Amino acid sequence: MNRLDQFEYPLMEDFYTIQGEGAHTGKPAYFIRLAGCDVKCWWCDVKDSWDESKHPRVSVGEIVKRADESGAEFAVITGGEPLLHDLEALTIRLKQKGLDVHIETSGSSPLSGHLDWITLSPKRFKKPLDEVFPYVDELKVVVLKNKDIDWAEENAEKCPDSVKLLLQPEWDTPSSIPLIVDYVKKNPKWGISLQTHKFINVP
Ligand code: SF4
Repeated sequence: MNRLDQFEYPLMEDFYTIQGEGAHTGKPAYFIRLAGCDVKCWWCDVKDSWDESKHPRVSVGEIVKRADESGAEFAVITGGEPLLHDLEALTIRLKQKGLDVHIETSGSSPLSGHLDWITLSPKRFKKPLDEVFPYVDELKVVVLKNKDIDWAEENAEKCPDSVKLLLQPEWDTPSSIPLIVDYVKKNPKWGISLQTHKFINVP
């Protein structure tokens, strides 16, 4: 057995599904939702993930075996806040099995592991670390109010020129959609990300 397979992570769930959000929308992906979050957004739709002690610790060997057998071409490590954990062992083994590794993070803890695509979803109450910005591939900001757009622009200034800029309405508060549409039409460097998995009823 590879020694990295013995590492364990608190795992809330893992499943093969369709990436519903962002630049890779519509592509099949193996989701790995690690438990533990110290950001605690009031509108979070995975509050069950916050307390990692409520979830089993699962070995890298088991997680990667399931991801590999799914047939997915890439894995999405999400949470919770996945960067609360050192992702070295998990990401090395996923890549050794031929899967690209994506992450969805608030960027509020140090980067770790081997990541092919970094989606930064910054949260105002626990800001991203400056060291994360140079590596961001996609900036995806949930917009509920005008001040969220200011927050999005503040973060965009710190990202590389190549970054994909996306504003996303929150599923339960679609009232922000006109605000987002109007802003994107006036500022076409931005695009819109929707939670399309909720339209097609996949997790
Ligand atoms: S960072 Fe993500 S998991 Fe944590 S509270 Fe915010 S939305 Fe929920």
